[in-house]
Amino acid sequence: MTMSISKMKALIAANWKMNKDIKEAVSFVKSFEKLIKNAKNIDIVICPPFTLFSELNQLLKNSKIKLGAQNMHFEDKGTFTGEISPLMLKDAGCEYVILGHSERRQYFNETDDLINKKVKSALRHNLKPILCIGETLQQRDNNKTREIIENQLINCLNDINENEIKNLVVAYEPVWAIGTGKNAAPEQAEEVHKFIRSLLLKIYNKKISDNARIIYGGSVKPENIKCLMKMKNINGTLVGGASLDPKSFAEICNAA
Ligand code: PEP
Repeated sequence: MTMSISKMKALIAANWKMNKDIKEAVSFVKSFEKLIKNAKNIDIVICPPFTLFSELNQLLKNSKIKLGAQNMHFEDKGTFTGEISPLMLKDAGCEYVILGHSERRQYFNETDDLINKKVKSALRHNLKPILCIGETLQQRDNNKTREIIENQLINCLNDINENEIKNLVVAYEPVWAIGTGKNAAPEQAEEVHKFIRSLLLKIYNKKISDNARIIYGGSVKPENIKCLMKMKNINGTLVGGASLDPKSFAEICNAA
């Protein structure tokens, strides 16, 4: 069944990056859960560093908060020192995995081709990939936003058919907005989200395009979440900095 886009359940995901030890994470969850008691009709995901999975998985057993990872290898197991596999993520209680984050692309040379392998592997293992795509400031200034978005999306979804794609989440994360305090204007983000939805229609079909959750990431804070979420094609958000504090992340979840 095709869902109306505006009725779609929002997804609010926290990307903790390389932050928090066990004590800090436990204290976050305890405060955060109290603050989001009344949040309804949203999916909330926390993507912590790997060292926190075990503790958080226990703590979130009966909670509405889901666990996600920030990255993974595409192979199930093997001689890949320092890597983590989709099977390990499942075993640790993960439901989501962020793939192709711009920091992975920038600092760890991840290419669309590698990200495509990871997306395929995540889908095969029933993990929900949060596929990040987005342009740099230079690319936007050179009017290349659509070209970049189209190339990244097509390449990262290469050879994935319509039966495999249903758990995909796309995160539009303009690189110039990540960690800079400079969020995209709601209309600017909406234009790209609408474009991404049109690409999903072109690559797949109306059902997939209408049902795809397309979330926005880049300097989301309690002050700007409401305006962003008013946009028809913005179905949630990926939050970095503001997700580290239980109060500000709860304000974002409650506003969404
Ligand atoms: C991110 O890194 O995915 C992100 C959105 O970061 P921030 O909210 O800090 O811009």
